[in-house]
Amino acid sequence: MSFNNVRRSTMVAIAADPNAAAVSFAAKTSDLQSLFGNHTFNEKVQKERLPEKVFESLQDTIQNSKQLDPSIADVVAKAMCAWALEHGATHFTHWFQPMTGSTAEKHDCFVVPTSGGQAIAKFIGSELVRGEPDASSFPSGGLRATFEARGYTAWDPSSPAFIFRHKNGATLVIPTMFVSWTGEALDMRTPLSRSIEALEKQSLRVLKLFGNKKSRHVYPTVGAEQEYFLIDRRLAALRPDLTVTGRTLFGAKPPKGQELEDNYFGAIPERVIGFMTELEYELLLLGIPARTRHNEVAPAQFEIAPLFESANLAVDHQMLIMQLLRNIATRHGFVCLLHEKPFAGINGSGKHNNWSLMTDDGENLLEPGDTPHENAQFLFVAAAVLRAVHQNGDLLRMSVCGAGNDHRLGANEAPPAIMSVYLGSALDEVFRKLAEGTTTAAKKQAPIEVGVSTLPPVKRHSEDRNRTSPFAFTGNKFEFRAVGSSQNVSQSTTVLNTIVAESLDVLATELDEALKSKKDFNTAVHDIVSKAIKDNEAVLFNGNCYSEDWKKEAKKRGLPNLVTTAECLPLINGKKAVSLFEKYKVFSKVESDSRHEIYAENYVKTIHIEAETALEVAATLILPAVLKYKTNLTAAATTKLQKELLHELDSSIDTLIEKIGVLKKTLSDVPEGNAQKEAEYFCKTVVPAMTSLRGTADALESAVDDELWPLPTYTELLFAR
Ligand code: ADP
Ligand code: MG
Repeated sequence: MSFNNVRRSTMVAIAADPNAAAVSFAAKTSDLQSLFGNHTFNEKVQKERLPEKVFESLQDTIQNSKQLDPSIADVVAKAMCAWALEHGATHFTHWFQPMTGSTAEKHDCFVVPTSGGQAIAKFIGSELVRGEPDASSFPSGGLRATFEARGYTAWDPSSPAFIFRHKNGATLVIPTMFVSWTGEALDMRTPLSRSIEALEKQSLRVLKLFGNKKSRHVYPTVGAEQEYFLIDRRLAALRPDLTVTGRTLFGAKPPKGQELEDNYFGAIPERVIGFMTELEYELLLLGIPARTRHNEVAPAQFEIAPLFESANLAVDHQMLIMQLLRNIATRHGFVCLLHEKPFAGINGSGKHNNWSLMTDDGENLLEPGDTPHENAQFLFVAAAVLRAVHQNGDLLRMSVCGAGNDHRLGANEAPPAIMSVYLGSALDEVFRKLAEGTTTAAKKQAPIEVGVSTLPPVKRHSEDRNRTSPFAFTGNKFEFRAVGSSQNVSQSTTVLNTIVAESLDVLATELDEALKSKKDFNTAVHDIVSKAIKDNEAVLFNGNCYSEDWKKEAKKRGLPNLVTTAECLPLINGKKAVSLFEKYKVFSKVESDSRHEIYAENYVKTIHIEAETALEVAATLILPAVLKYKTNLTAAATTKLQKELLHELDSSIDTLIEKIGVLKKTLSDVPEGNAQKEAEYFCKTVVPAMTSLRGTADALESAVDDELWPLPTYTELLFAR
């Protein structure tokens, strides 16, 4: 059977019965609420299964982010093991988030042999608390070479252990941090936890200054909206580029893309809703509050949004959502694409990081208050966030860099690489007045007294939205929209936490000093907030962030525009980042250096793999097909016009061959040297060569006999379901 016949017969099969590839699934929907978190070793299970003293000690550990008391570890492990076995688990694993951007796990069986050919199920405290994966193959950016070859994983009790089911069984999963023996973070979760601590410390200082005596903890909250594509697996399997790189490296623009805007919030196709139902059922059992699902802008694109949770839990849950999206898609005959730009000319996928600050007694620090006093505190915190994005927008941009996201940021579909803040008209008005030092026109020149009733009240949940802004205030939280769909949301959260901690620190110190010099509280807060806004006003922008004018305007305002990953990389261990992250104990200098090394290498390897794949597809699939078509055309061409067609084809084929040669040459000319140099070379030389080759191949796709074209087309990939 020729390649093309496979393509066609696949389309026929899908058209005949799109659901044929899906396994049937029926959720037990009768009692959804009681199923929530049933597969987690949560508070309820702990209470049922642990002696009271042990339960209390464990809860204290969880709520106060303490170390687990070693004397209770064995009891907890034993209870966890019994519980896991009842749920069909055969193995346990320490689950962690290495700097590959995904998750890692190594399973150990509960069953151990005893004397006399018998066996028992066993899980002891030390196995729960600490693991030592032979993890020498994870990227460490030189960290382990300098310090210690092996890292260890340590249980993070703030994230509950859970049961991960697969078709033939289950595993007890213990969320852990991954660190070197000398304490360097080898993962993405450890720095996140450190940043949460730094932010808590500064937030509590602010609360204290505002007279709050009851809140004991403040933690960042995260709600991450995830976009993804679902493509029929049978078609995706015919595309080596999708299989290897997660995106199409070739593909002519289809006659219909997203122009009609008929997909957004459209009716969810039958097979897709079947997939979503199973996904959400599994998420429910894991205590992940999946809340919203809908069709997205691009054909075959969808979104899932859970309710927000405390940042460390939200990050773990987000990683699980990505894992389950991929796993469960295959059960329904789909491939789930989490790449930021699977299809050229069609919207890519992002992840919106909704972020706020919450106290343990339920106060949202970014919720405009009912009383002038609450309002003053809100404005103080909001001004600190504004200052953070202005002073450290470059670091925020850096936190979302990566080969995939380079296709999105700066294209007219996702926020640009320029970091700016949109406040919504209500808050914007208040901020501008504060910066001017005036209230209303009627009360010209009169200073706004924060904390007293002359302050214009901030309307709650302002309605207007600016979807083009990378960082928008949306009523009671900020929404950071530049995160890539495949990225671990912990990176951006870590940076956001740290830069806001720094701003809160600066403003709280100013307030401290003002109060020490006997300045009146209201006047002091007013002056600090006004000055913070005035000094950082340049980052406020309400207009269309996709426009060319904004790029010019932003440049005038001195806002950085870091378009590519190669430009962002040096910031990771630049002077500014190193001193900031060291000060708040989030990354040490060696950790920053190691991260630079890892991200640069990752970028280079990603593009390298894409380029090799593009070469293979062009040389072994596209070129032979085109030559076959040329043979047919040569035999058939009789008239002048037909011969002209042949002539054009000939010259396109030559161009294709030429461009294959150019791309090949760029790969053999990679400069020896450091990772940064290589990254810049790949960005400036290899990527353009790939794009240029693609241009020629895509034009040929529109000219060559469809019967001979070897790759499923965009129309087939995007509309068959
Ligand atoms: P959108 O218009 O962007 O869809 P939604 O109001 O539906 O906005 O919320 C999107 C996400 O924001 C959800 O995941 C939601 O849980 C999250 N969110 C809401 N409040 C907060 C908060 N205080 N902190 C963090 N995330 C929040
Ligand atoms: Mg949103």
